[in-house]
Amino acid sequence: MKCIYCEQSGTRVIDTRESQHRVRRRRECKDCGERFTTYEEVESLEIKVEKTDGETEAFDEDKIRSGLEKAVKKTPVGEDEVEEIIENVKSEVKNKKKVSSREIGRIIKNELKERNEVAYIRFASVYDSFEDLESLQKEVEALKE
Ligand SMILES: [Zn+2]
Repeated sequence: MKCIYCEQSGTRVIDTRESQHRVRRRRECKDCGERFTTYEEVESLEIKVEKTDGETEAFDEDKIRSGLEKAVKKTPVGEDEVEEIIENVKSEVKNKKKVSSREIGRIIKNELKERNEVAYIRFASVYDSFEDLESLQKEVEALKE
């Protein structure tokens, strides 16, 4: 989330309030210290995610969250930043009808790279090996045919 005052991209969430249809977050810019409020729609995104095997599934924010939580465990990347990353992923993909899991992985890797090297490497190693597994599986399937 970019600061509305200085346009730097690091903001800290200092307060979150959920109501029925939206989430209100009070944010503070890490750069200039200004505070502002954002309102986010609660509805989940109606986006299809295309996996590397060609199958599609619904965009699942919880799945992203649990992957991120594993990656940032015992690093200085906190819960707020995990939410921040998820918001950034959502804002990057929200105008698309379909997005590939590779694209989502790429966005997350970039986000983590900026924040913490350990979290980045952990995520990348899990994510990239998944990619490899899926492509390996695909090749095996192709051989069978
Ligand atoms: Zn600022």
